Amino acid sequence: MTPAEDTAVHASKGTIRVLQLYPRDMNIYGDWGNALVLRQRLLWHGYTPELLEYNVGDDFPEDVDLIVGGGGQDSGQIVIQDDLQSRGEQLREMAEDGTPMLVICGLYQLFGKFFKTKSGPVIPGIGILDVETVGTDERLIGNVTLTSPEFGEIMGYENHSGQTSLGPGVEPLGTVSKGAGNNSKDNHEGARHRNVVASYLHGSLLPKNPAIADFLIRTAVERKYGTFVPGTPDDGYARRARENAARRPR
Ligand code: GLN
Repeated sequence: MTPAEDTAVHASKGTIRVLQLYPRDMNIYGDWGNALVLRQRLLWHGYTPELLEYNVGDDFPEDVDLIVGGGGQDSGQIVIQDDLQSRGEQLREMAEDGTPMLVICGLYQLFGKFFKTKSGPVIPGIGILDVETVGTDERLIGNVTLTSPEFGEIMGYENHSGQTSLGPGVEPLGTVSKGAGNNSKDNHEGARHRNVVASYLHGSLLPKNPAIADFLIRTAVERKYGTFVPGTPDDGYARRARENAARRPR
């Protein structure tokens, strides 16, 4: 079914514009799947999704309701750094205004203050999140499970050299029971500020963690239309993906 046919069979309660940040350079270990999950769950909830992309040098789209951004190699982060700085003020304003955002790994790091890479260069962040990241020789790789006060048990996969420390301006997304998360020391994974959810977890994250997807959707809809009227998503796929993920070793 094409997206147009897919939406035609649903009576739309409204349109939600989902923007992927830098999918060309920042999109590894399946992060694109996050946008696809938002698209499908918006349809199940009875809303019309519009998926938009923003890459280096593009015009920034108008009227964005929800933002997702993925991870990348250090080299990808270097490619986007100047463009990201040029969009920093706009993204900071949107985040402070309450726009829901999900940023994974490489963009999580660059939504913070800086990422000092292992090979030397310091990539400046845009400071939406009060976090700092320093690359180390110890790469943190493998499956992760954490518990979050808001979203319950979260599962995903990490692969990063950067180790992130949280400042007082953010809360961790949750506490890790399997894997590392932000760093190899404090058992924290991810960060929360306003309606920004930041996490190291790929896999992608949202297919296995629909509670986070629905938080982003509900927040976007409430900001735009006042109230969110949920539909009846098919959570069978997510349930099976979670059962599989839970059985995996670190
Ligand atoms: N390049 C960053 C690091 O290694 C981010 C990696 C990622 O997005 N998976 O820490």
